[in-house]
Amino acid sequence: MQLTLWTYEGPPHIGAMRIATAMTGLHYVLHAPQGDTYADLLFTMIERRDARPPVTYTTFRAQDLGRDTAELFKTSVSAAYARFQPQAMIVGASCTAELIQDDPGGLAKALNLPIPVIPLELPAYQKKENWGASETFYRLVRALAGAPGAGAGREPGRRPLCNILGPTALGFRHRDDLIEIRRLLDSLGIDVNVVAPLGASPADLGRLKDADFNVVLYPETARSAAEYLKKSFGQPFTHVVPIGVGGTRRFVEEVAGLAGLDPAPVLDGPGSRLPWYSRSVDSTYLTGKRVFVFGDATHAIGLARIAARELGFQVVGLGTYSREFAREVRAEAAELGLEALITDDYLDVEAAIRAAAPELVLGTQMERHVAKRLGIPCAVISAPIHVQDFPARYAPQMGFEGANVLFDTLVHPLMMGLEEHLLGMFREDPEFHDGVGPSHLGGTPVAASAPQAAPATAPAPEAAPAPIHLDHPVAVAVAPWAPEAEKELKKIPFFVRGKARTNTERFARERQLPLITLETLYDAKAHYGR
Ligand code: SF4
Repeated sequence: MQLTLWTYEGPPHIGAMRIATAMTGLHYVLHAPQGDTYADLLFTMIERRDARPPVTYTTFRAQDLGRDTAELFKTSVSAAYARFQPQAMIVGASCTAELIQDDPGGLAKALNLPIPVIPLELPAYQKKENWGASETFYRLVRALAGAPGAGAGREPGRRPLCNILGPTALGFRHRDDLIEIRRLLDSLGIDVNVVAPLGASPADLGRLKDADFNVVLYPETARSAAEYLKKSFGQPFTHVVPIGVGGTRRFVEEVAGLAGLDPAPVLDGPGSRLPWYSRSVDSTYLTGKRVFVFGDATHAIGLARIAARELGFQVVGLGTYSREFAREVRAEAAELGLEALITDDYLDVEAAIRAAAPELVLGTQMERHVAKRLGIPCAVISAPIHVQDFPARYAPQMGFEGANVLFDTLVHPLMMGLEEHLLGMFREDPEFHDGVGPSHLGGTPVAASAPQAAPATAPAPEAAPAPIHLDHPVAVAVAPWAPEAEKELKKIPFFVRGKARTNTERFARERQLPLITLETLYDAKAHYGR
């Protein structure tokens, strides 16, 4: 048992639904209790799709458990086939149905339908949504891509041909990433054979083998399928994710290499505005801003690289809930001199954010709430997301335009340089004082108020040295602050005050000082400044 209030990912059958909903001509029969149809809302409300997902639920109830739930499942499969006439079906169980062990695969097979019916084994108590999506896509590709063999090879005069793998329903900015990447491939002179799962039919999966190579946009959902296609048809696949200017340039080089083309025309083209924007003088105040990054592995790594290498921020925390990709995130964190936070417990993430005292949090919908509580500016860079992150406007994360979007996304929540300056100078001003947030965000109370305003006697998480240790926090008492020390602390600019406070409290705790005085504050400053 694990006490859980928020979960970063749904159960694996939600991942399977994301694949089914992304595709056309595919139907999913899900053995599930009454009430599981809530999942429809993820697609019709959050993603604002205009049609119900292609999912038939058996919706068994308590009284059905005394009868034949296996028969109910078979009837549902037959009815779904008769009504929707799909090219192929997937069948499986949700968490509760897994417990009653009706064997959806065997039952569907016994019906002898004239279409491929692919059973899904999704262990709901061990695995989660992204794994479920990846496994479902892999199973579909395996069942429908045809007999393994060598690819057809390129006919003379034909442009290189690739598949784009990974975009799904309910994917964070997948719709616009796809437009951006298609445009990039086209300007390189590469044609797209099949995009899957988004928009593909089961018949399209049968054409995957015609491509020369595969572009994997989201490893969380598509790497397993790409590995299968490589093994079965000799198709190489991309490993670079085109997030950020650096990521996009390396992606262009990698793709051009696979296609046997010259990347120079695209690399020498107009590219993104991000490099100049971040070099321009107004961005000077961004240098060294402390940023904490958390999300799925692909976006967390991509955004940490942009923050550190393209905007000059200091990454003070990096983590993911994608356990399957922990190794990649650990390697990235090590390059930044950090220990990666691998967890799906948002309380661990909250404790790590508190300890690192960043000036900006880049995370998921959960980190948005955490940052709000702590009074820290935040931008959403990864699923899970809510409805506002399926915007009407064009808003990719990938490619050169994606880098433009990300520059704005990362800078927007921060206080502008002039405002920061005024706040430092006119601390007592009725308009520009510490209690107000960035004026362009409505002037809500921010920054330093939340974590710092906690009563001095309240338990606080253990502060961490840099590089931060992201073990479970230990609640320890904090020495109270003498009024003159508290007053002096307020003279420190608000965006570094959180760090100054945690450092001073740690300094006092390590020396078991009963009271934080003016002297303690200066001693701590001298100690950590060395
Ligand atoms: S079967 Fe799974 S998803 Fe459905 S209500 Fe139960 S725990 Fe939730």
